[in-house]
Amino acid sequence: MKDNVKHQGIIKPTQKEAEDAVRTLLRWAGDDPEREGLLDTPKRVAKSYKEFFRGYEEDPRQTLSRTFEEVCGYDEMIVLRDIPFESHCEHHMAPIIGRAHVGYLPDQRVVGISKLARVVETYAKRLQVQEKMTAQIADCIQEVLEPLGVGVIIQATHECMSTRGVHTHGVSMVTSRMVGAFRKDDKTRREFLAVVGTFDSHKG
Ligand SMILES: [Zn+2]
Repeated sequence: MKDNVKHQGIIKPTQKEAEDAVRTLLRWAGDDPEREGLLDTPKRVAKSYKEFFRGYEEDPRQTLSRTFEEVCGYDEMIVLRDIPFESHCEHHMAPIIGRAHVGYLPDQRVVGISKLARVVETYAKRLQVQEKMTAQIADCIQEVLEPLGVGVIIQATHECMSTRGVHTHGVSMVTSRMVGAFRKDDKTRREFLAVVGTFDSHKG
């Protein structure tokens, strides 16, 4: 048990326990974990999980902590659009594949744009509900940068819908969270939606 690691109050199983759990699921699927093609699968799945869920080890607030103030008085909206992400739904652990658009209206401080993408990435690499992820990204940026406003729009497809259950293909879900000026000021919100594109008819 010595390689059990306690993280955020959760006792992590050992590598062996994780691999045994995969063997159980392989049997649950109706296959034989001891056949040649599946022998290394538990190890590969455990390794993949480290990548799929590495967001639990990262602190998005830390990511945003380094800011710049020398921006020559730049006080317009900053938008990063089409940030691709892969996540997993917390109900079925099936992939959620999508894009995020993140904008904010700085108040003195700005961050490097790669940091905004990193925040999306960190929240995506956890078990998620799209609505929750959208709110978490917006709230994190608002809390740490304290800008005049934040807008986050996420468009994603959910494989738990397309590969099981209702088997609906080609459907994407759009969620948004508008904070501060993006919520209160019609002009700011419209500017953001126009920059992001596609959603112009969505005004209101
Ligand atoms: Zn699901």
